[in-house]
Formats: sequence, C-alpha cells, structure tokens
Amino acid sequence: MIPNRIQTCLDQITKDMATRADRGVVADYIPELAQIDPHQFAISVVTAEGQTYCAGDCQVGFSAQSITKVFTLAIALGRSGDQLWQRVGREPSGTAFNSIVQLENENGRPRNPFMNAGAIVTTDEVLAGREPKQALAEIVGFVQAAAGDNDIHINESVARSEQAHGHRNFALAHFLADHSNLKNAPEMTLGTYFHQCAIELTTQQLARAGRFLMGAKHGPRLVAKPRVRRLNAMMMTCGHYDGSGEFAFRVGLPAKSGVGGGILAIVPGVASIAVWSPGLDHNGNSKLGTEALERLAHEMDWSVF
Ligand code: GLN
Repeated sequence: MIPNRIQTCLDQITKDMATRADRGVVADYIPELAQIDPHQFAISVVTAEGQTYCAGDCQVGFSAQSITKVFTLAIALGRSGDQLWQRVGREPSGTAFNSIVQLENENGRPRNPFMNAGAIVTTDEVLAGREPKQALAEIVGFVQAAAGDNDIHINESVARSEQAHGHRNFALAHFLADHSNLKNAPEMTLGTYFHQCAIELTTQQLARAGRFLMGAKHGPRLVAKPRVRRLNAMMMTCGHYDGSGEFAFRVGLPAKSGVGGGILAIVPGVASIAVWSPGLDHNGNSKLGTEALERLAHEMDWSVF
C-alpha cells in the first residue's frame, strides 16, 4: 500500500514539475555548471526497508557540490572527534554560502561546516598529514560505500572549471590561513575541496548514499548513532544556508543542498530522499527540488516535527 503511494506520488510530482516555466537559474559562477539543461528533473526515495523508488531523470549524473559537505564532515569527525569544533562552529550563519564578511568578524572561525569557509576547514582536516589523492580517495570511497555502488566518480572538468574561477573560495582559504585555521597550504586544501564538490552521481545513488543518515536497518553503518543525530541536526539548521529556516518551515526535514541543483533529505528511521533540478533560487538552493520535497513530505506526512 505505502510503496505504491510513494511511486504514485513521485510520478505525479515529476509530471507536475515538467510543466513549470519558472525553474530558477542554474549556477553560472562555475562555467561547467552553467551549461546544464535546467529542464531536467529527478527524484528518488530509498526506504528504511531497502526499497528504491525513482521518477524522472534519475539515471542522469549531476554535480553533488555542497551535498558532499555532509560526507566530509562525517569523515572529519571520525578523524578528529569533537576537537574539530575548535576550528568550526555549529550555528546557522544567516549569510550566503560563500560569505566572507562573517569570517572576518569572527576571527577566521567559520560559523558552521556547511558554508564554504567551514567546509574548507573540514576538507583541510581530512587532508591533514597526507596527499590530496589519498584524502579524495577516502571521500569518494566513503560515498561509494554509503551508496553500495562503486560507479560514483569525480568529474574532473567540473573541478577544473571551479578551480579556474574560484576566486572567492581562494579568498576564504587565505583568510583562514591568515587566522592559522588551515593545516595545509591553501592551494592544496582548495584543490581537494573543488574535487570533492565535483563528485557526480544520480539521485538514485545519492538517495542510497543517504541511508546511513536515516539509521536504516539495511545498508552500511558508517557512523555511530549519536553522530548521525548530530549530522541531521546540522543539516536541519544549516543545510540550506540563509534559506535553512524557510526550508524547515516548508519541508520540515533535515536536508543538504548543492549548487548543482541536488538536495538530499532525510526522514529519520523512514526514508532517504534525493531530488535534482538544476535551477536555483536566490539562496542557491534548488527551486523545484524544494517544491518537490515540500509536496512529497506533505503527501506522505513525513516531518521531524
Ligand atoms: N563548490 C561550490 C562552491 O564552493 C559549492 C557551493 C554549493 O554547492 N553551495 O562554491
């Protein structure tokens, strides 16, 4: 009964989204992403019982971008434990994902690990004491293990495209270094960060990769339960940058967005959801992706509240 409802719901949402004229704007500050066709849409759900449901372009790979920050945070906490919080906070920022001003006011300690400055710090923590290649192998390996799928890769062109235009991230990294909050050379940390953001996967792979965050009975147990709760708390409060309050109000689920147009949302104990629509709203979060999650959460009565 419920499984049929999920599929019917996904099909209906996908059909409705296809008719939308206002689809938001694709990220154009990374030239490779500016070329993506905004008419694509995909949504996938994996339940705690291990069933997978998909609709739309769910076999098309897209750029995960900031969604990877959840996986990198999990690895960084695994490496350094609570010491990590000396380098990065855990409060919502109320600013854009790539904001610089707050970092200066707060002496080089980023507000949270999901805004760019904070994610540069967590990447730096994962990189410490080894080569970028090894750190990236761990990050990609973690996502592959979480998804139970080795066919997940870094898109080298997207990484290079961001590297060539990432002046703002370079500014953030140098600012962090100036405050002695980087363990590696800024160029090394940023190279790792850009490559991690360029991980490419489908909504089906991403929904599967999110299983460990819902505490699924099936699938890999990569992170202990108390830490899973905290990762979800961070997603809820900081996962959509300056749009986190609005997202909680509309959808009511912990979630992380990326400028590739993807969103990973978790219904604790019940389901992992991945949606992708490349057009973004003014906060840099997927416009139709948010609408689709709002509909799905409402129709399935999924909420943490
Ligand atoms: N790689 C992107 C950046 O650093 C990630 C931002 C995002 O997805 N919000 O700007």
